[in-house]
This record gives sequence, C-alpha cells and structure tokens, in this order.
Amino acid sequence: NMGAMENKGLNIFNSKYVLASPETATDRDYELIEGIIAHEYFHNWTGNRITCRDWFQLSLKEGLTVFRDQQFSGDQRSHAVKRIADVQLLRSRQFREDGGPLAHPVRPESYIEINNFYTATVYEKGAEVIRMLHLLVGPENYRKALDLYFARHDGQACTIEDWLEVFQDVTGRDLSHFKLWYSQAGTPRLRVREAWKAGTYTLTLSQSLASTPGQTVKLPMVIPVAYGFVAPQGGTMGKPGVLELTEVEQSFDFALPQRPVLSVLRGFSAPVILEREIESEDLGLLLAHDTDPFNKWEAGRAFAMALLRRLCRSTEAIPDPDYLLAMQAVLRDDTLDPAFQALALTLPSEEEVAQDIAASGGVPDPQVIFAARRSLLMALAEQLQPDLDRIYRDMAVPGPYSPDSSHAGRRALQGVALGLLTSIDERAVLARKQFDSADNMTQSMTALALLVAAGQGGEPLQRFYDRWKHDALVIDKWFAVQAAMTPPERAVETVRQLAAHADFDIRNPNRFRALLGSFANANQAGFHSADGQGYVLFTDWLITLDPINPMTAARLCGAFESWRRYDPARQEKMGAQMRRIAEKPDLSKDCGEIINRILGS
Ligand code: ASP
Ligand code: ZN
Repeated sequence: NMGAMENKGLNIFNSKYVLASPETATDRDYELIEGIIAHEYFHNWTGNRITCRDWFQLSLKEGLTVFRDQQFSGDQRSHAVKRIADVQLLRSRQFREDGGPLAHPVRPESYIEINNFYTATVYEKGAEVIRMLHLLVGPENYRKALDLYFARHDGQACTIEDWLEVFQDVTGRDLSHFKLWYSQAGTPRLRVREAWKAGTYTLTLSQSLASTPGQTVKLPMVIPVAYGFVAPQGGTMGKPGVLELTEVEQSFDFALPQRPVLSVLRGFSAPVILEREIESEDLGLLLAHDTDPFNKWEAGRAFAMALLRRLCRSTEAIPDPDYLLAMQAVLRDDTLDPAFQALALTLPSEEEVAQDIAASGGVPDPQVIFAARRSLLMALAEQLQPDLDRIYRDMAVPGPYSPDSSHAGRRALQGVALGLLTSIDERAVLARKQFDSADNMTQSMTALALLVAAGQGGEPLQRFYDRWKHDALVIDKWFAVQAAMTPPERAVETVRQLAAHADFDIRNPNRFRALLGSFANANQAGFHSADGQGYVLFTDWLITLDPINPMTAARLCGAFESWRRYDPARQEKMGAQMRRIAEKPDLSKDCGEIINRILGS
C-alpha cells in the first residue's frame, strides 16, 4: 500500500520505488527511487534507533526523515530545483488538506485508525516545521542539536518534546512559542504591507489563521520571514536577513537610499499563504533579477496566477504581454539551469488555481480552470514558438540515457517545449515523432501524455500496451496516463472502459491508484464532470475496494475533501455519493473515519 517501510534490517519497498531501467522508468521515477531509498536508510536513526513513544509522535520520525531526504536530494541534484518542486507538492496536497475538513495538527490529538494519519500534514508540513527550525537556529546549531539528539536518545522511544529540548539545550532559545506549529492546524496567511518615507522603508507583517475542525481559537505563531531587497534598476540593495514575526502584527524599519522592490519569504521560509499586492512591473523585475532562485520562480508563478484568475473570470481576457515577454527572457537566458527553466514555464496546477479562487471568495469551476490554463498555454506557445523550436532541438541529450540530473533537466525543458508546441498543433506531429523514436521511458511517456491529451492516443496506446504488457509497472503508467490526460468530456467513459480491462486488478494498489487515483486527483475537469457521473463511477469503485483494501480506499476518499469549495449542484452530487459510502453496511473504520470527517464539515 505504501511507498516503503523502514523495518530494521529489512527495508521493504513498493516495487515502483526500487525497480528501474532506462527503458521502463522515467527521470521522475529515478528521482523518487533515490529519495525513497535515502528516506528509508535515514530512518535507521530517525525512526529505528530513536523511535516514537506513541503514534501521536509520528511526525517526530516522518517530518524529520522527509527533511533529511529533501536535503539529500538537494545535495545530489539542485537545492533550488528541489525546493521549488517540494513547495509545488506542499501547496497542491498539504495546503488543500489544511484548508478542508481533514485538517489536523502535525501532532494529531486523536484518531480512529492511525493509518489515516500518514498524511501530507504529518510528512510534508512536519518537514517544513523542521526546515524553519534549521533556519531559525542556523546550520551549525542544527548540526549540534542533531548530534545531541542522537547521543542522548539512541535506543529510546521519544516525543516531540525530547526533540525540541535538544535545540533548547544547544541554543538556549525558548521554543515554547515555536511549538504551536505542532498543535495548531491550518495554513497561516501572511500579509505584507509596505511604506516608504524619506529614506525609511517600513515593512509591516501580519498573520491570521482561520479556524479548523475542532480548533476555533488560534494564537499567533513564530513565522520566520527571509527577505532581501532588489533595486529598481536590478542590483541588490541593503542586506538580506530573516525577520521573526511572533505577534499578530509587527513593523520593521530599514534605512535605504531609495525605495526597494521587496523579495519576501525567500526560499519559502515558512509554510504560509502570502498575501501581497504587487504590480506586474515589480514581478517582472523580481523574475529577472531576484538572486533567490525560489523567489525568482515564485515571481513567474504569481504572474501566471494573476492571469489565470483573470482568464477564469472572462474568456475575453487577453494574457498580459509583459508576462509573455518575461517568459521569453527566461527561455533565452542560457545561464539558467534547464531544470529551473522548465519549472518557470510550468503553469500553476488546476488544484492551485482552484484554491486561489476559493481563497478569494470565488467558486472554482474545474472546466473553466481547465480551459483557462489551456488558453494561457496556447498564448505562451504562440509568443515563444521560434524559441521553443530552438530549445526543443538544443536540449536533445546525445549518447545513451542516463538518469543524471543534468540530463534529466534538459529532458524536462525539452518536454515543456514539446508540450507548448503541441498545444498549437492539432495533429501533434512533433509529439508523434518523439513517441516513435524515443529510446527511453521519459521521452516516450512525455509524448504519449501529450498525444492522449490531444485526442491522438489510439494507435500509440495500443502499440505501447503490446510492447509492455508483461511489465506491471509500465502498464500502471498506461492506465494512469489515460485516466489523467484524456480530455474531460471523455474521461469518465474512458475510465469506465479501462476498469473493465482484463489487466485492471483491484488487488494491486498501484494499479488501483493508477486508474482511479489519477482520475480523481489528476483529471479534475473530468472527475468534476457537471452531470456527477465522475463521482458515481469513483464511488462505485471505492465501495468495491473497501472490504479488500480499506487503507487505500480511505486514502482515496480524500478526493472529496474539497467538496465545500464547489457550487451547490456539485456539492449536492458529491454529498450524495459520500452518503452512499457512509451508509454501506460493514464499512471499514478506515473509510468511515475519513468520510464522516468530510461529511461532518
Ligand atoms: N514509515 C514508512 C515511511 O514513511 C511508511 C509506512 O509506515 O509504511 O517510509
Ligand atoms: Zn518515513
């Protein structure tokens, strides 16, 4: 069911996270395998030699071990790229969880089935809390604190208090306020306001946290805010640093020769939602000149998000030419890492756009979001076409395949270029050419996904199946790509037919997730089909899975967690399906717990 398990002396892996060859595994698979093997290996200390006193302490080992595997992958590849990818995941999965009925603290206070608490909050937000500690005490003290933790607690079963105590002992810093990160659920909102008067720049930071299930009173937290200043002409100004926001609102003054452009929350120094009004001119400046790679990327994302918001409101809206030109500059800047360029040219996910619309009081429509992303992609492709043609050729990697990160980065950028070019070619000629000639799974899957999205999947899918029908992990990809990429209007029917395929095996959790998980989580416009048929099909299969594999069924029930953000008609349809699950005789306690928490909201 899971990715892996760190049993002392006999780590166990899901075959997906340990088996790979260039013909059968993508760059992403190699990266996950590297990270997960590292994760289980690091558990030998943070998990096995020092273990948890009880299940409420799960993040003591999981949050810490995720942070350790993130640092490792950053060392192996690129810290900047790794950070951006981790934040994308955090926002899509953990922020969604933290903002809905399943929100819970990093250290939960109650559970019916502990398997339901192997969550993005315990793992990913738990890692963010440790990252903030690392920033607040600095890397040297962090290292000393870890050495002390291992020396003091080797062979013991511990608690979050034991963990925080080594930091207090090493630094003398009182962490009782910081500890709220372990007990308060929900994603804080950080609001930024600026003022400039006669050589003094004033930055006012304020925080708020909405109530979450079972927690209506929230206290202000310790929020580390890394920052720097960019001069209006491009260079840097003043000294970068880290502010600590500990109250509801605080102001900080800086003496500066001219009004700066603020680069705030550098490296995503805290897991918060940033609220800031900023002109597109300043976003363009940060995108071009910020020395913090995360914020450079973030500026492009904020730009794209603003455009997507506008495109969702009106199909007449036209993508801002400043954005298109800024993206052109990113593409032409050959001092940038191709892996970074690929991330900069990737639009916010449909889930992120939906969150953004809901946060500002709107009601997201998954089909409208799908169409808005598509029209922005096409506008980008039209503007950038000559550059994209050149990038597609230049990024080709000569010689035999290697999963090495520099090769993978080039393939990632090449894949993004291919995606953009394919969005403006109905016949998908280049994607077809790549699919026909690829000698590795990365290029083959990139092309196949684009062909399926373009409605040209037929013959390539058949060929792919015939070639790989003996290899279960590759056939999982064959199911997943169709569930995720089939255009929304045909998605439900496609998933229905695939579920009747002889190779659809409900006893194999990878296979089940490949089909139903990809449909519900990666094909939002298809899953949220207005007639409600996506919900019915998905629920039929959850009900069938529940007696066979309650743990995976419960996990997938989470696809309904954001139901309250949609229109009344969709809410009604999702509610009806959840009640079907809740009322099923002999429902597992795993699914019962999740569905009742969602329905109770
Ligand atoms: N502890 C495992 C891990 O995070 C998950 C599990 O319990 O199976 O690696
Ligand atoms: Zn783990």
